[in-house]
Amino acid sequence: GADDLRPASRPRTESYHGNAASVASHYNSRQEVGLERRDHSPIIGLKKFNNWVKSVLIGKFVGGEGQSRRRAGSKILDIGCGKGGDLNKWKLARISLYVGMDIADVSVDQARERYNQLRGHRFEAYFKAHDCYARPISEALPEEYKRRDLYDNVTMQFCMHYAFETASKARMMIENVSRYLRKGGVFIGTIPNTALLLERLEEIPEGQPLEFGNSCYSITFDERRHKGLYGHAYHFYLEDAVDVPEYTVDWDNFVSLAREYGLELIYKKTFNDILQEEQSSNEYGPLLGRMGVINEEGESSMDSDQWEAANLYMGFAF
Ligand code: SAM
Repeated sequence: GADDLRPASRPRTESYHGNAASVASHYNSRQEVGLERRDHSPIIGLKKFNNWVKSVLIGKFVGGEGQSRRRAGSKILDIGCGKGGDLNKWKLARISLYVGMDIADVSVDQARERYNQLRGHRFEAYFKAHDCYARPISEALPEEYKRRDLYDNVTMQFCMHYAFETASKARMMIENVSRYLRKGGVFIGTIPNTALLLERLEEIPEGQPLEFGNSCYSITFDERRHKGLYGHAYHFYLEDAVDVPEYTVDWDNFVSLAREYGLELIYKKTFNDILQEEQSSNEYGPLLGRMGVINEEGESSMDSDQWEAANLYMGFAF
């Protein structure tokens, strides 16, 4: 039955409608477990795979596009940076500036701490707690970090969908993404694949709970059909990771919104397609082993349930 899909540890939530404060407190309350504890996470394989996908996106798009593409020395704005889990990836991309912003102030402190402990290639960094979907980032940034055409890349990893609660949040988010991104710069991100989620929702027979998942995740919708482009909420539970309300991202609407702000789509792929395309490439194939996604025998560190959860996501670039 549907109840079997729900891991026992998952608290039942009365309402799926979140707000910025609850998102912040959810992420704040997830304490920094450190690399050692993280290695024991029941979904460590999935986490490693997600990190590999982000490394692929960073590698493909760091520095932006066009003749003036500059890989080393790139300047990066990370919106929804969380605890700074991508700092090492950007370090390896030999960037010169990283600005990280997130609504969860505890996470931002942890990101700053992680930066302070980085060894090797040095780059300038600035961290700031800010609600990037409700307020312009210009309010929170010192002059030197809000210059026109400053950033080669803006990155939003696993966080942009929270903005699709309302039209005004989504607009504020895109406004913040585009404002200081240079011409030819590239905006990259990862979000759940809404089309896939809605397909799964459609498959649920009438009268059944609007829920699907497996041993490591569950997704619960509170409405089968939603009028309008914003605020279509579902509750996403992922073992040892998230337990929060999220919002569907109507892809065509997102693309046209982005276009209004001068952003043109250049890349859109499911995580599965990214793996199929990049696993045998010279650049990202060997990285699968180095990042622990596959072992020396070439076996995946994800079980089939984690693999299904991984494929709920897609990556994009504008
Ligand atoms: N990007 C990080 C990563 O890939 O590890 C963190 C991803 S975490 C799943 C989602 C992040 O989005 C959380 O850190 C959360 O606080 C942040 N977030 C949600 N709403 C936000 C908002 N309005 N402004 C800024 N950050 C927000």
